[in-house]
Amino acid sequence: MRYHYSSLVGLDFSGIQHKYPETVLIFPTAGQTCHAYCTFCFRWPQFVGMEGIKFATRESGIFQDYLREHKEVTDVLITGGDPLTMKARHLSLYIEPLLGSGFEHIQTIRIGTKSVAYWPYRFVTDEDADDILRLFERVTLAGKHLAIMGHYDHWKEMETEIAQEAIRRIRSTGAQIRTQAPLMHRINHSKEVWIRMWREQVRLGCVPYYMFMERDTGAKQYFEVPIIRAWEIFQQAIQKLSGLARTVRDPVMSALPGKVLVDGVAEIFGEKVFVLSFLQGRNPNWCKRPFFARYDDKASWLTEHTPALGEQEFFYEKQLNEILQTET
Ligand code: SF4
Repeated sequence: MRYHYSSLVGLDFSGIQHKYPETVLIFPTAGQTCHAYCTFCFRWPQFVGMEGIKFATRESGIFQDYLREHKEVTDVLITGGDPLTMKARHLSLYIEPLLGSGFEHIQTIRIGTKSVAYWPYRFVTDEDADDILRLFERVTLAGKHLAIMGHYDHWKEMETEIAQEAIRRIRSTGAQIRTQAPLMHRINHSKEVWIRMWREQVRLGCVPYYMFMERDTGAKQYFEVPIIRAWEIFQQAIQKLSGLARTVRDPVMSALPGKVLVDGVAEIFGEKVFVLSFLQGRNPNWCKRPFFARYDDKASWLTEHTPALGEQEFFYEKQLNEILQTET
């Protein structure tokens, strides 16, 4: 079976992106803003309302109709901006229907958010903090897995009492917190920061999940870290951690063909190469197939890599072009 889901966003299903066969992203209109305004944010066009690139869900009914028809979908990611800028009663319009009949195939609901770090009051003292927690509870009591994808860039963001209380309250609902962050020059580009951050996350009951490479958008030049440096930081950090923190993946590039892991550096037939693989691909069949890029100590994104070992192109490129053509 070939999957070439276009970004349905902006076409028939505004605010919905069927990114991978089993995973659908939804961008609720009211969640297209954020508590934080990070200078490295790649979602800024959504915040300023630029036509053509702003993702919006005009009504949750469209979303439900789409999911009802797509039984292959098991995972829904509600994202933004930050969907937890939404009032609990608004967010529940998107979530509650998924707990009822017709949506038995939806097993996991993820919510991407920075609020755990930047506005932990959302879960503790905001006027509808308890309502949001009750909503989380209804999801877990319905037998679904609720994952709060918490964006923490630095261990300092977990130091305060309120941040730790937010984690405690979220976890008391049965939801799990998985953590993710981009690796950024000048912010967290040292192994010490990641060791301390991941250790602290495990202590607080969170699951370290993603170390992202800085995307090829916005202020990349200021924040970018070469891939070799990212891999060194990751490799040196992970060896200092217990097995419980080794849930985190190798540095990831969330790029056009899919999520590409930097698995390491190797020497093959005398050539020094980067070993890469897909965690998720536009074509599911690309997953976990190692491929090799020429060693380049300045490259900081997939598009800056060239194939190694005499290859003219990476194994996925021809198929990717076909997929992209069907989308235009
Ligand atoms: S927290 Fe995430 S969505 Fe919000 S401004 Fe920062 S990078 Fe963008």
